[in-house]
Amino acid sequence: MPLYEYECKSCGTRFEQLISDRRAKVRCKACGDPRVVRVLSTFAVISPAAEASSQAEPGPCGVCGAPQRRMCETAER
Ligand SMILES: [Zn+2]
Repeated sequence: MPLYEYECKSCGTRFEQLISDRRAKVRCKACGDPRVVRVLSTFAVISPAAEASSQAEPGPCGVCGAPQRRMCETAER
């Protein structure tokens, strides 16, 4: 279930919303205004280029701490 960040056009409140249904209307959690826009949080902004460069980058795995990346991914299979 994707978690999106929204900003209210009416009062400027930012909030996160789990979207279980794409057709569901998202309303501001503070004032209830439906005029909200989705903002790209840092979590969501992962471009294919950035992802590729981080994988090519040498260094310990951020997940398991192994000296080489992706070792934990292969070990789980
Ligand atoms: Zn609002």
